[in-house]
Amino acid sequence: MPSFHCITHGCQMNVNDSAWVARSLVLMGWHESDMENADFVFLNTCSVREKPQHRVLSTLGVIRDTNPRAKVAVAGCVAQQMGETLWERNAHVHIVLGSDGVAMAPRAFARIAKHPNLRLSHLDFTDTFPDRDSQLLPFKEQESLPTGTLGASLKNDTRAFVNIMQGCDNYCAYCIVPYTRGPRKSRATASILHECKEWLARGTCDITLLGQNVNVFGEDDGGDGTSFSQLLYKVAELDGIKRLHVVTPHPRDFSNEIVQAYGDLSVLAPRLHLPLQAGSDAILKSMGRGYTNTHYLKLVENLKKAKPNIALSTDLIVGFPGETEEDFKETLRMVKEVNFISSFSFAYSDRPGTRASEMTNKIAPALQQERLNRLIVQQAEQEEQWLKSREGIETEVLLEAHSKKPKYSNIMESHQERPASLIHQENSEITALSNPDTNTVEPDQNNTSWQGHDSWGNTVNVIIPNHLEQKAGSIVPVRILRAKRHSLLAELR
Ligand code: SF4
Repeated sequence: MPSFHCITHGCQMNVNDSAWVARSLVLMGWHESDMENADFVFLNTCSVREKPQHRVLSTLGVIRDTNPRAKVAVAGCVAQQMGETLWERNAHVHIVLGSDGVAMAPRAFARIAKHPNLRLSHLDFTDTFPDRDSQLLPFKEQESLPTGTLGASLKNDTRAFVNIMQGCDNYCAYCIVPYTRGPRKSRATASILHECKEWLARGTCDITLLGQNVNVFGEDDGGDGTSFSQLLYKVAELDGIKRLHVVTPHPRDFSNEIVQAYGDLSVLAPRLHLPLQAGSDAILKSMGRGYTNTHYLKLVENLKKAKPNIALSTDLIVGFPGETEEDFKETLRMVKEVNFISSFSFAYSDRPGTRASEMTNKIAPALQQERLNRLIVQQAEQEEQWLKSREGIETEVLLEAHSKKPKYSNIMESHQERPASLIHQENSEITALSNPDTNTVEPDQNNTSWQGHDSWGNTVNVIIPNHLEQKAGSIVPVRILRAKRHSLLAELR
């Protein structure tokens, strides 16, 4: 049987898509290998960051130089944009799959394995959420599949990511997603619950529901009458679930019912990533975000009333066209007032085809960088204060891996399911742990350092005596001993 290798650029949605393709190919009897020896390479692309096409073409060059006989499938946002020009310029590309075409990957791989000279593309957007599991039925009868095969990972994952919708209709001025992922399409509730149950049956207790704008789940033609808040209650009552997260909500569409769910459901994590993007009403309007800073602050107030221990993180764009010093100061003010515990902040840059790319009042790169630096300094102070405030508290940590092993350092070259947002923190922490001067409690022959996360998404290293055997996926009670630069150190209690 053929072998394959996955390379993933971009967000958690892409990581999840690649994981599904990998699972599907294994189900077909294929096996995963390193890039040098793979018969096929699956390259899943992203166009959110700068120069995405350049990055994809350069990765294709690396694949060709490393393994000239490998046949390549390019999928995702850049494949959607570049289409069949990809194989016109790269002879080793045989399959091009747009965002909705990823569901066709197993069939496409099987056809190319049989007919090696074929070229296949699936670039059309579908009207409904692509039904992936039915794509596998030609290979095996669904009834005969072992429990968990369709929805679960090959590995013993401690956290699961479940797609609930795809695409977006918002057309924020700076964003390429509506063009590359197409209009929003909700997945059927029964299919979501089925996949969640499969994960839970395998012992996963931490589930993240994924979509570009999860709040409007069910409000498109693919909806089956279940709203997002109703979906939260349905998932929260499944047997075995301990933690439930959502990525990504939109502040404009965050209904009172969803706020209420945060108050009612103890499994809904007290950490919410709520993109603000800018603090000034003028810039928010120019971005087409559909809310004001007052609306955002009111929403945060309501969330804090509903769930008093909630902490927020956010996305911010600095130096959007037309941003004045006063506009930027509004962003700094909002960051302070909401007290974000972390943020993903970027200097604005053009994405061809978007409204913002046509705007003429661009900000000079040097000024963008100067503002970004000021924002990063303020955010770092807030993160430090947040981590410091955790010292001494008693909480619970989901154990994921031994700290000493850099298990996730190869995220861009594999299909492992880890949120990209956590990679930097984890790798930083692995470095810190190797420095004996930085810890008061060190793993030695009598104990082991485990890495995991608390309910707020903080990376926590837990020192556990060897005689107390633990396994990945356990949730253990801990006492936080000390805050470190981007993480926490804890002991079992
Ligand atoms: S809500 Fe705006 S920023 Fe988010 S995916 Fe849709 S268009 Fe892009």
